[in-house]
Amino acid sequence: MKIPVEEYLAYALLLKPEEKKLREDLLAWMPERIIDCHMHCNLSDHVAYINKNAQGHMLSTFPYYSIEDSARNHWLLYGEKKVRRLRMPKTFRGLQHRVANEYLLRHSPVGDKIAVFGLPEDISYTNELMRHPRCAALKMYWSYIDPPAQKIYDFFLPEILEEAQALDVPIILHLPKMIVRSVDDLLQMLSDFPKLRVVLAHLGLSKMLLPGLAEAFSLVRENDNVVLDTALNPSGDVMSLAMSLFGVSRIMFGSDEPLQLIRSVAYQHPEKGERIVTDYPYHWVDSDDQKRFGHLASSVVHAHWQSFAAIKDAVSYLAQHTQKAAKQKIFHDNAEAFFGF
Ligand SMILES: [Zn+2]
Repeated sequence: MKIPVEEYLAYALLLKPEEKKLREDLLAWMPERIIDCHMHCNLSDHVAYINKNAQGHMLSTFPYYSIEDSARNHWLLYGEKKVRRLRMPKTFRGLQHRVANEYLLRHSPVGDKIAVFGLPEDISYTNELMRHPRCAALKMYWSYIDPPAQKIYDFFLPEILEEAQALDVPIILHLPKMIVRSVDDLLQMLSDFPKLRVVLAHLGLSKMLLPGLAEAFSLVRENDNVVLDTALNPSGDVMSLAMSLFGVSRIMFGSDEPLQLIRSVAYQHPEKGERIVTDYPYHWVDSDDQKRFGHLASSVVHAHWQSFAAIKDAVSYLAQHTQKAAKQKIFHDNAEAFFGF
């Protein structure tokens, strides 16, 4: 399958008037120095194929995005801010992850960090990779395996977690199901590996306040080694709940660049549960859903601005005199300390 990445990018990079306005307002509000602890980079040469699962998923929108691409789009997304980044390769099967890891380890700008991508089919490679001096975290992915994982140990193998814990390499965990449905699985892993440091990506994946979310967050926060990244989460309510239960010292800004260049809205599909709808006919869009729910996305903006706005909203609910320090922590200081930037 040929994915028209250049067309997708060209569309993404043309700001709508409301995005220009949001950009101005949000950049004025954000601190001057930022750390993005969740973004993806690899070259088109690293893509051998894209597995079926990923082809039907938004994660295949931009199968490649180089370090230069992120530099080129810096101004549009961050203006004059100084941004340091934690990069990882894309996560679908068919990417040559060994080469992509090597690319990031060799070519990432000095001062940036790398989360290497581990391979469940090669434990010794993965365990060795974590010893690389530039490795700051380990990423593995639930739908890299086929069929996609139901449980954390299906893809983050215990032998690998053991080594990550021993080497004190944090893992970036995109749960196989959203947190309300995988909390027991998560708690089991946390009790098996009590010293393992864990970043729960996407605030645990819930883009809306679901029943059970507060309970799940409350159970997980008991383990001090767990922090959360904000990647692609558009909900001020979820963000605010996470801040109140985990505290602002355990939340770190992540963008999921380049996926935050997609303009999408989360909604509750009557049969399929939480889904997203977009304003653009990407290859993974279900045309029936698009016909039924496309109107929800008529005035949608980039997920990038939605996520910034959600953080800003959530921070605005905090006591006034704590707001400045909170955003400084979320956008910079927490990740600096956690990953040793
Ligand atoms: Zn991601």
